[in-house]
Amino acid sequence: MSVVDPALGPDHPVDLVVTGARLVVTMDDDRTEIAGGWVAVDGGAIAGVGPAGTEPLGRRRLDAADGLVTPGLVNAHHHIYQNLTRALPPATEHDLFGWLTDLYPIWADLDEEAAYLSAWVGFAELALGGCTTTMDHLYVHPRGGGDLITAEIAAATELGMRFHATRGSMSRSRKDGGLPPDEVVQDPDEILADSERLVARHHRREPLAMVQVALAPCSPFSVTPELMVATAELAERLDVRLHTHLAEDRDEDEYCQQVYGCRPLEYFEQVGWASDRAWVAHCVHPNGDEIERLARWGTGVAHCPSSNQILGAGLAPIRELLDAGVPVGLGCDGSSSADSASLWLETRAAMLLARLRHGAGAMQAREALEMATRGGARCLGRQGTLGELSVGAAGDLVVWPLDGVRFAGAWADPVGALLRCGPNAARHTVVAGRLVVDDGQLVAPDVADVLRRHEAVARRWQR
Ligand SMILES: [Zn+2]
Repeated sequence: MSVVDPALGPDHPVDLVVTGARLVVTMDDDRTEIAGGWVAVDGGAIAGVGPAGTEPLGRRRLDAADGLVTPGLVNAHHHIYQNLTRALPPATEHDLFGWLTDLYPIWADLDEEAAYLSAWVGFAELALGGCTTTMDHLYVHPRGGGDLITAEIAAATELGMRFHATRGSMSRSRKDGGLPPDEVVQDPDEILADSERLVARHHRREPLAMVQVALAPCSPFSVTPELMVATAELAERLDVRLHTHLAEDRDEDEYCQQVYGCRPLEYFEQVGWASDRAWVAHCVHPNGDEIERLARWGTGVAHCPSSNQILGAGLAPIRELLDAGVPVGLGCDGSSSADSASLWLETRAAMLLARLRHGAGAMQAREALEMATRGGARCLGRQGTLGELSVGAAGDLVVWPLDGVRFAGAWADPVGALLRCGPNAARHTVVAGRLVVDDGQLVAPDVADVLRRHEAVARRWQR
């Protein structure tokens, strides 16, 4: 099969042609896979895919020999600023509530420079791991810290990453029965006004938008119900998406029972969030009835397998969520809870955990890859545009190497090989038709300089 946009004409060279792949996995509606295939990108969008010998002329040609081409991976949950507090004891020894309580006072130093540097490093790390679109849930906005989200967007634009910023928030401090200390929470009116400002300034509505903004109160134990309700109303009025943490671990179940007299999902429904406008991080502990309700609402779930394992949060019922029809994407979660930010790693971990829970038949590589691509796109409200290589979709793709020692002998199934062998990282990462990673290296200059500045901030914070 070969689908080339007829508007291009036979002589019109496209911006980029990726050729010679061992396999192109399109993740389109028919899940088309093309052995020896090519992908063309023009004007930032996929212009065509097809078998060898039918490719259009390209101004630039990218060799995918011995490689697998997939859509760029979509990261549906992250807290990038936490790469300034990676692997930091004693937080590393604790579960969610203890880990947070150790780190909140350090995060109170977050400012524009720290937000920019951590975002730059975080986006670079994600791109090297085959991610082309990421969200970031930035919920710490210390007084006097400045415009942290605009600083992150500057880093995304510099590196050429597609970015869904979320205006996170915390409004319930310890004195009001919440978990965080006073210095990292904000007044609800200030949060709502800043949310509206950021949407007006940065949220793009065109199909191939590089930057979008969603609203994201942090969690049941750090935000008041009033702010949850007001945020849902604001998201409805501004027509932007909603995100929060939900049902992450047993402490949260207990907190909700004590404070709200119900389970986390009931609370989520009571505050007006039960809809397809929302996607939630984790969802490790929904019961059977709650899984059905999530599916009915169309609420998405960002599964974060590494974070769940490191924090000992539990084994999320991903097979059950998928079977019920819940949109499930993958997230690497915060840089200091999972500590590593590789969507390749999360995709493999999701496959392994589903099999650990229900046996080897519970998840195969293609379904895991589908969560990392189409699933993430559904979480972000970008289905049809992100997470698939179909004509008109975003020109975001990854060429994965399948050669060398790690893949020797894996000839039968390139998709199985991608996730069962490894570890792996991108050979090329392309966003909107532009290379962000070329031959395993970041295209952006100044990596060493940014890392030096990042180190200075991280060492100051950790002193
Ligand atoms: Zn999180």
